[in-house]
Amino acid sequence: MPTTSPSPAPARKAASADQHHDTPAIAYRVELADLHAHLYRVTLTVQAPQALQRVSLPVWIPGSYMVREFSKHLQQLEAHQGRKVVDCRQLDKNSWDLTAEPGKPLVLRYLVHAHDTSVRTAFLDAARGFFNATSLCLRVHGQEAQPHGLELVASRQTTGWSVATGLAPQQVDAAGFGHYLAADYDELADCPFEIGAYWHGDFKAGGIAHRFVVAGAPPSFDGNRLLHDVQKICEEQIRFWHGQGGSKPPHKRYVFLLNAMDDSYGGLEHRNSTALVCSRRDLPRRDEAGGESARQAEGYTTLLGLISHEYFHTWNVKRLRPAEFAQYHYDAEQYTQLLWFFEGFTSYYDDLLLRRCGLLDNAGYVKLLNKTINQVLQTPGRLVQSVAEASMDAWVKYYRTDANTPNATVSYYAKGALVALCFDLTLRAEGRGTLDAVMQRLWTQCAAGPMSEADFAAALAAVGGRPFDAEIAAWVHGQGELPLRELLERHGVVVHDDPAQLAQRLGLRVSEQNGVQVKVVLRGGAAELAGLAADDEWLGVETENEGWRLSRLDDLALYTGRTRSVTALVARDKRLLRLRLELPAPQDGKTWRLAIQNTQPVDAWLAPL
Ligand SMILES: [Zn+2]
Repeated sequence: MPTTSPSPAPARKAASADQHHDTPAIAYRVELADLHAHLYRVTLTVQAPQALQRVSLPVWIPGSYMVREFSKHLQQLEAHQGRKVVDCRQLDKNSWDLTAEPGKPLVLRYLVHAHDTSVRTAFLDAARGFFNATSLCLRVHGQEAQPHGLELVASRQTTGWSVATGLAPQQVDAAGFGHYLAADYDELADCPFEIGAYWHGDFKAGGIAHRFVVAGAPPSFDGNRLLHDVQKICEEQIRFWHGQGGSKPPHKRYVFLLNAMDDSYGGLEHRNSTALVCSRRDLPRRDEAGGESARQAEGYTTLLGLISHEYFHTWNVKRLRPAEFAQYHYDAEQYTQLLWFFEGFTSYYDDLLLRRCGLLDNAGYVKLLNKTINQVLQTPGRLVQSVAEASMDAWVKYYRTDANTPNATVSYYAKGALVALCFDLTLRAEGRGTLDAVMQRLWTQCAAGPMSEADFAAALAAVGGRPFDAEIAAWVHGQGELPLRELLERHGVVVHDDPAQLAQRLGLRVSEQNGVQVKVVLRGGAAELAGLAADDEWLGVETENEGWRLSRLDDLALYTGRTRSVTALVARDKRLLRLRLELPAPQDGKTWRLAIQNTQPVDAWLAPL
């Protein structure tokens, strides 16, 4: 459904815009130049360039810790001063030096190809546009602290389209096309734009105006239900950080930019907005005959968890942030050991706050926690890498997975969430406080700004009444197992050891779309001992006197019966191999099943305060 009034700002005539406001020191004019060629045209005016003016496009976007070289999509860069062509000398993959006459406006023009549906880059076609300034806006070195203007130009092709962004409108039309103003480059880079005929709805939480935008919604989409539930999440989180009074939420308004696609999942946090992608199937639906299926309910909970996660980042990583991120550096990797805190603790609270605001019950929450625990326990890399190391390595490991990833790395999201759980349950068991109090203390202690591990340790000690150095050393910097079982049982949740799935017992991860394709061979498992390798196709299995073609892994037991010693027939680089494989017994692998045994301590931990 197209929207008609996307901007709370007073609409003025855009035609005379240039006479109505001062031209910012740095001004970008963004045109949706060619929808079918997926090209944005950018005209950048630098009012007072240096004699040798350097410009560069970021190589990464804060929140997504991987060098993505956005400049690969930039083309046909040219520069002028008046009628004079200015020499652009390319220095490396993403920066240029311009020999300009100082003090005289310098105008750069270029095109950016945008055909990536991820939340990290830019997209343009006949249905919608989306961009981060890190993909479109060259950074003018030495002038990053100046006001940066962005004019988004409407065209005949964008009739019926609207604009949504967290950036402050300066002078825009009713649809939101026109002039926006950022205080500096960082703010510009932190405010993505969604453009198109999207659905939108508004609500208030904690007195703050929130807008939710959904592009690509199917006809069944229940917008009212989404708004109602997201409002609960936002109110819960504002209460979480500011409930005791004394501090105010850091944002004046907030925009959710969600793009619903066939099959996608992800989000990127910003200071007063977030860009999200989800599967259309995970959106809430209106009047479904027969009610909501379990699968639909699970998909919707996943979406609410994602929304909760990104919103929590408004405090935890956008304001409270690693000391190393006090100033963003856009030209190279920016390392921190603290992603276990900023991503892991955010992951702990995303689902926990869904429980606290009533969108999950205790059993639903414990089920999600169970999933996270098994995910970590099934990753041999948890015994190889600490979450502090995983944070440093995010740039080359977490964001660049391969067949060895589960053997060598651990997720600072999943294990980080379990580290948060361990701190929370330890504090609660000792009766001195909760992790909530630690988070709230950090917020004031670090003045909603950069923090270090020492700040975390100090806040923990202050709340818990003793130093937690040993726990930090073991859980954050160590590779050992976390004391999950003991802590959960102290809080009314028992752990049952169920038999593991066949793939887990074999030490394999496979895809079965086209025969049994080996994706990952886990460290120390039966498959590794037999010599199976990633990219093998597992064709069949032979027992003593017969052979069977294998099309699904779970059929293995059908063909092998009680035989433990078999031959796996494998195709590798067109060669056929026979590998001796010792099949593990069903009791050889265990997976955890959590069950609530005692409601009282579980309620004390999980239930609404
Ligand atoms: Zn996150």
